[in-house]
Amino acid sequence: MSRVDELVQLLGQQYVLTGEEAQPYIVDWRGRYRGNALAVVKPGSTDEVAQVVRWCAANKVPMVPQGGNTGLCGGATPDSSGQAVVLSLTRLNRVRSVDTENDTMVVEAGCVLQSVQQAARDVQRLFPLSLAAEGSCTVGGNLATNAGGTQVLRYGNTRDLVLGVEVVTAQGEIWNGLRGLRKDNTGYDLRNLYIGSEGTLGIITAATLKLYPMPVAQCTALLALESIEDAVSVLSAARNGFGAALTGFELIAGNCLQGVVECYPQQRIPFEGDAARMPWYALLELSDSESADHARERFEAVVGAAIEAGLVQDAVIAENITQSKALWHLRESIPLAEKAFGKSIKHDVSIPVSRMADFVQTTNAALQANFPGIQHVIFGHLGDGNLHYNVAKGQARTEEELLAQQDAVYQLVHDSVHEFGGSISAEHGVGQLKRDALPRYKDPVELALMRRIKQVLDPDGLMNPGKMLVP
Ligand code: FAD
Repeated sequence: MSRVDELVQLLGQQYVLTGEEAQPYIVDWRGRYRGNALAVVKPGSTDEVAQVVRWCAANKVPMVPQGGNTGLCGGATPDSSGQAVVLSLTRLNRVRSVDTENDTMVVEAGCVLQSVQQAARDVQRLFPLSLAAEGSCTVGGNLATNAGGTQVLRYGNTRDLVLGVEVVTAQGEIWNGLRGLRKDNTGYDLRNLYIGSEGTLGIITAATLKLYPMPVAQCTALLALESIEDAVSVLSAARNGFGAALTGFELIAGNCLQGVVECYPQQRIPFEGDAARMPWYALLELSDSESADHARERFEAVVGAAIEAGLVQDAVIAENITQSKALWHLRESIPLAEKAFGKSIKHDVSIPVSRMADFVQTTNAALQANFPGIQHVIFGHLGDGNLHYNVAKGQARTEEELLAQQDAVYQLVHDSVHEFGGSISAEHGVGQLKRDALPRYKDPVELALMRRIKQVLDPDGLMNPGKMLVP
């Protein structure tokens, strides 16, 4: 019996995909990585995941866990050998339980993030993880990459939103760690080891998530700004003025908004005159637990003071939920509208907020000195010190010429990030994209510890090989 037939025997014919059917699973979201697979398998339960893993372990077949396949680092794409099994978790899509007294819900790894947000809303709770890929990405992928998004400022990364996990280990054992406890000091924190491990240690099959009260009212504004220094000062004022009610602070370069309206003519920049052509914008959001009037009062006080201080050149405050959604839609459209600039070299970096303006100025200048005419496409979650610092070809070169310079651009930007005390992967992870860069920037002892952990938990190196750590 062939290996594929053995998998069919485990899961049934329709859940073992090969040939044409497997194609969407072996290429990443950006089309940058394309691999090959023995088969794509779609188990329907934790037990079936464990059976597949035991089969892979017994036959020394590498496994590539995959959720919504929206990752931006090639982490869910198999290599080109055709030896690996892609293990798609999308059939594990049940909300197992909701406990409103404990403010927790247990969901399976294949649940699409948007459906989890909705399940929380159905019981008048908030699950605050929010990112532009939420209509396709899955909870398993969110945990595996420790996803960030737009609400990190208030609620933290995915890791901060998880109380427990269920994991199938590399040997095929099932660890039920779905405890819904906020306090549990009974040993090593294995939950947090699996979160952010990008499928290299085991397969997450379910998670206990934290729920929060729904905000009573929200205020959103788009601010037109002259500089990143001004944006950082407004962020600081908003932190002081709103405290924990500050739930979003996004920085957007003017050319990114222009790119959005070029790509999507039905969207518009909601300013007139000079304010429609500012170098920077910030999207600010407050979530209030009292009332709409209270929210508005607080919001206008902070935004008004920032305008008076000359930090903000113009501001549009959303009057209702539709306007608020339109402002967020502008921000969320940027990753898709980036195609207006042609192919770009993307960096997902974090820098201490206090050094952000200096970082951008220094790095922009170094890039222009080394690659004249290159175009900067910059936006991100300034509140978390996280920038998507992307570089497009500009007028002076073709896409091919830009891509030929890719490695040199990466190194220049990442060296600069390192000098400014930052991280070369803020929220997207390492995957294949940054694997080879990691040793240049990571503390060697830390990297050696990571290798030892991998060796203990996955001694045969079958869990997502070639991702995060050089094999
Ligand atoms: P996949 O892409 O399928 O997998 C990602 C990684 O997780 C791979 O290494 C895979 O092997 C592993 N994995 C997946 N499921 C499991 C599992 N059950 N167990 C173990 N390992 C698993 N990310 C952010 O952090 N913030 C953003 O704001 C953001 N915005 C985005 C906007 C767009 C338009 C797009 C396309 C992506 C964006 N991302 C963002 C990246 C991406 O959406 C996240 O990384 C997301 O968490 C990936 O989830 P997924 O289900 O698609 O995972």
